[in-house]
Amino acid sequence: MTDRSRLHIAIQKSGRLSDQSRDLLKGAGLRVQGAKNALTARAENFPLDLMFVRDDDIPTFVADGVCELGICGQNVLEEYALGFASPRFETVASLGFGRCSLKIAAPEGMAYETAMLAGQRIATSYPRLTQRFLAERGIEAEIVTMKGAVELAPRLGIAKFVCDLVSTGATLEANGLAAVETVFASEAVLVRTLKPVAPALAERATALMTRINGVIATAESKYIVLNATEESLAEIARILPGAEAPTVIPLAGRPGHYAVQAVCQESVFWETLEKLKAAGASAILVMPIEKMML
Ligand code: ATP
Ligand code: ZN
Repeated sequence: MTDRSRLHIAIQKSGRLSDQSRDLLKGAGLRVQGAKNALTARAENFPLDLMFVRDDDIPTFVADGVCELGICGQNVLEEYALGFASPRFETVASLGFGRCSLKIAAPEGMAYETAMLAGQRIATSYPRLTQRFLAERGIEAEIVTMKGAVELAPRLGIAKFVCDLVSTGATLEANGLAAVETVFASEAVLVRTLKPVAPALAERATALMTRINGVIATAESKYIVLNATEESLAEIARILPGAEAPTVIPLAGRPGHYAVQAVCQESVFWETLEKLKAAGASAILVMPIEKMML
């Protein structure tokens, strides 16, 4: 039985999403105790219990309300959701990690066109996403569902095509296949259950989500300080990436000169600094932001 006075979040126990899921919660200020291979852990400074599970079980845990929150790949969540007529959880944040794509792979060297899938066998661990892709294009094909090692299917004569998760394509290549078309682009997301949650807990969940959104916003954001002349202010404001209304302060004893401060919510590259300098900025400082609440 789960403790209903605390929140529960399901995260992947061990795999590609585990480290970043834990880091995100740490970044949100949670101190978590517990051995590496425990099934659950408790946050010491927030009414939250972590449940470490296989990623495939996360949609069920959140849909059934066993966990109010979960961190999981959209690929797994959407595959699950397609099995139900009505939504069972909602996405509350895109987390910017675990990016991958579900792709059709064809024998290497084939002059592929989507229509070639018609009447063929396609091996996949994502039958519903694959079926939706085919249906949207009016293609009928036979889907062969496999739990793993999908890329071996063509060599074994089980299927001609494969629909599998790809990040670099190296595994496909090693099996004489090449990714030819994207079926679904995915990243890790935070989801919350649509089952009723006690008001006090719902409030804690919202507080946690606000913190998590702050962590995500902070990851890319930088604080920029620079000096500028009056004529260059407009051009500098235009160049500052993702900054709304920079603060402009007159410099004491230097008429026509200003200090400009801004939070940039996009990456700040060296090219950006060069452009700022060319526009008339000097003494440019770029600083990381530790915490941010939007
Ligand atoms: P589990 O034991 O939890 O079932 P798994 O083997 O199914 O783990 P992982 O390989 O750890 O899962 O991948 C977890 C998720 O990471 C995927 O569902 C996907 O959202 C994401 N991911 C990111 N990059 C890749 C990739 N290159 N290949 C597969 N999944 C990726
Ligand atoms: Zn899995």
